[in-house]
Amino acid sequence: AAKASSGSSYRLYCNSLLDKVRDESSIKFELAGALQRREFQLYYQPKIDLRTDKVIGAEALLRWHSRKLGWVSPARFIPLAEASGSIGAIGDWVIEEAAAAAARLSRLFPLHLAVNVSVHQFSDGRLAECLLDAITAHGLQPQALHIEITESVFMTDPETVSQILRTVRQLGVQVALDDFGTGFSSLGYLRQMSIDYLKLDRGFVADIPNDKRQTAIVDAVISLARALGVRVVGEGIENYRQYGWLRRAGCDIGQGFLIAKPMPEDEFLSWLQTRETQGTGTHG
Ligand code: C2E
Ligand code: MG
Ligand code: MG
Ligand code: MG
Repeated sequence: AAKASSGSSYRLYCNSLLDKVRDESSIKFELAGALQRREFQLYYQPKIDLRTDKVIGAEALLRWHSRKLGWVSPARFIPLAEASGSIGAIGDWVIEEAAAAAARLSRLFPLHLAVNVSVHQFSDGRLAECLLDAITAHGLQPQALHIEITESVFMTDPETVSQILRTVRQLGVQVALDDFGTGFSSLGYLRQMSIDYLKLDRGFVADIPNDKRQTAIVDAVISLARALGVRVVGEGIENYRQYGWLRRAGCDIGQGFLIAKPMPEDEFLSWLQTRETQGTGTHG
C-alpha cells in the first residue's frame, strides 16, 4: 500500500473488473442448476397495519444458498436470472412455494403472503394461470396471495400488462406497485392501473422526516393514493421517527427492520406466536 502507483491501481481496477466478470459467469453457471439442487428458500418479512399494529401479511423474499458461492443476494442474481430466462421457472417455484406456505400459515393466522413478480413472468403470459394453479392446488383463498410488481412491467407493453393485471385481480389476488419513487413514478399509474397497494420505496422512507422536500412529496403521494382508494405501504422503516411520521401521515401499512427482518418460515411462525402472546411489539 505504501508504494501505490497509478500503475498498480490500474492493475487493481482491471483485476476487480475481471473478478466481476468471473463472478457473473460463475453465478450464471451455478444459477442454471440451483432449482434442481433445491438451493432456493423463501424468507418472510412481516407487514403491519400502522393503525392497529396488527400483522396483516408478509412479503416472500427469495434466498439462494449456492453450494459453490454461498449466499448470493437477490439483487445480484435476479437480474442474471432475468437475462438468462431462468426467472420463468424460478418465478413459478416462488409462487408454488409461497402458496404452500400461505396454506400452512392461514390455518393459524389470517395473513396474506406477497410474492415479487418480474417483467418476464408477464411477457410469457402464464402468470394468471400459475397463480390459479397454486391457489387451487393448496385450497387457498385467493386473498391469501398478493403479487408485487415494479413500474418496469409497464415499460414495454402496458396494454397487455394491464389486461393480465385485471385477470389477476379478478381471481381475487391483490396487486402492489413496488419501489414507488425509484422509477418514473408516474402518478398516472395510480389512476389507470389496476393496483391495490402502493409501496413507497425505502429510499423515500429513509429521508423522513429530515429531508423536508422528500417528506412533502411522500405526504402528497399518500394523500393522492388514499383519495384514489389505493392503500399505501411504507417499506424500509428502520426507526421510530419514520414509523411515527408515516403513521400520522396516514400511511396504512408498514414494513422494515424496525418491525422485523425477513426470516425463514419456522422463525416467522414463532415470531407471530410470540407477538400474539406478548401483544404488539412496535410500541414497546
Ligand atoms: P423489494 O421487493 O423491494 O424487497 C425489499 C428489499 O428491502 C428486500 O431485500 C428486504 O430484505 C429489504 N428490506 C426490508 N426492510 C428493510 C429495512 O428496513 N432496511 C433495509 N436496508 N432493507 C430492508 P432483498 O430480500 O435483498 O431483495 C431485494 C430485491 O430482490 C427485492 O426488492 C425484489 O425486487 C427482488 N426479489 C426478492 N425476491 C424475489 C423473488 O422471489 N422474485 C423476484 N422477481 N424478485 C425478487
Ligand atoms: Mg417487493
Ligand atoms: Mg420494494
Ligand atoms: Mg426494492
